Amino acid sequence: MINKKIDMIVPLVEMDGDEMTRVLWKMIKDILITPYVNLKTEYYDLGVEKRDETDDQITIDAAEAIKKYGVGVKCATITPNAARVEEYKLKKMWKSPNGTIRSILDGTVFREPIIVNTIHPYVKTWNKPIVIARHAYGDVYKNVEYRVDEAGKAELVFTNNEGKELSRQTIHEFKDKGVLMSMHNRDKSIESFAKSCFNYALEKKIDLWFSTKDTISKTYDANFKEIFERIFEAEYKDKFQKAGIVYFYTLIDDVVARIVKSEGGMLWACKNYDGDVMSDLVATAFGSLAMMTSVLVSPQGYFEYEAAHGTVQKHYYKHLKGEVTSTNPMATIFAWTGALRKRGELDKIEELVTFADKLEVACIKTIDHGTITKDLAELSDASHKNVVTSEEWLRATAKYLEILLSQNL
Ligand code: NAP
Ligand code: MG
Repeated sequence: MINKKIDMIVPLVEMDGDEMTRVLWKMIKDILITPYVNLKTEYYDLGVEKRDETDDQITIDAAEAIKKYGVGVKCATITPNAARVEEYKLKKMWKSPNGTIRSILDGTVFREPIIVNTIHPYVKTWNKPIVIARHAYGDVYKNVEYRVDEAGKAELVFTNNEGKELSRQTIHEFKDKGVLMSMHNRDKSIESFAKSCFNYALEKKIDLWFSTKDTISKTYDANFKEIFERIFEAEYKDKFQKAGIVYFYTLIDDVVARIVKSEGGMLWACKNYDGDVMSDLVATAFGSLAMMTSVLVSPQGYFEYEAAHGTVQKHYYKHLKGEVTSTNPMATIFAWTGALRKRGELDKIEELVTFADKLEVACIKTIDHGTITKDLAELSDASHKNVVTSEEWLRATAKYLEILLSQNL
């Protein structure tokens, strides 16, 4: 044990969640955090029952609290579908809490794989994490579609608020059946996205790559390219130079080829659809969804940390039957370390930053020494593999943590 617990000044916004991750949440706090930190949090229970009871007001309150204090840490939560409404007898199919929080904070989600020595990405050259930033507004996710069943003319029309028609273009003269779609984006949203990406790259001191298809989409995609360029030139060029990092723009197909041949270590900013697809590809190529962290960064500088995976429902049902599970707590622990480190940096509590660093090292050491949860059994190439339960894994990590904390490095 260390002699004195670390004190905090400003509270963290703590958002509890559902199912197996809710079980892990408490174990992580009990075994790896509260023995060492006088944890100061403002607690919001975003478990689906509490959201239902409060008509989802609790989610809005939690997002507002992040605006007040600046930093939050969130457990995975159920996004209700028809089956969940039935399972939990919900009043209605509440919206995704992540979606609600994201729209209140106007943030961008960054997903980063946790790299350990004994698990190798499928792409041999990747030895540094590839962080994906996905623009989470508009495009095909807010589209309007139409099924064409007869011959006719499809047009794109824009009318301003005074009722004046400013543009009318023929999309296609249909001779027979087909489909039709329109989509949009807003400069303000693209600007927020650009700023969040530039800020994140600066904070992590990694290059920023951005890609669209502006050779084909000369107005729509070109607008993304131009906004990024304008903001970079006006606000970030000097800062990037000082930090020794670069901003690199290229076409989406070119970037895909370059990423595969790279050693990683960059932030890859993606348009909404590209980010949806590429984040799953990158996560899988790095090994496991259980080893992927995620942070929501708002252009105003609010941060919300969480694991990229869900509530691990299947493990929870085993847990309910009294079985002991071997669920991987890594990404949830890294959500806590991300949030504690950020709190430490903002409040200038050096011990808290060091604690977060050491806890991450302890987690990585545990895995590299072969003490692993079941999901990593096939992936790890540690010489002596010992597959353990979640609690055993957390206790093994606590031992390493104690050693690291006793060394005044
Ligand atoms: P999931 O919880 O991510 O789990 C999918 C599968 O991935 C699990 O069954 C498990 O595979 C494996 N897995 C994920 N995390 C793991 C971990 N930490 N340790 C070990 N294995 C892990 O996705 P889901 O089952 O599709 O979704 C469950 C619920 O989570 C849904 O209600 C959904 O709405 C919610 N969800 C929430 C968030 C969020 O809050 N950010 C994100 C995604 C989904 P095996 O069963 O093969 O072991
Ligand atoms: Mg996806």
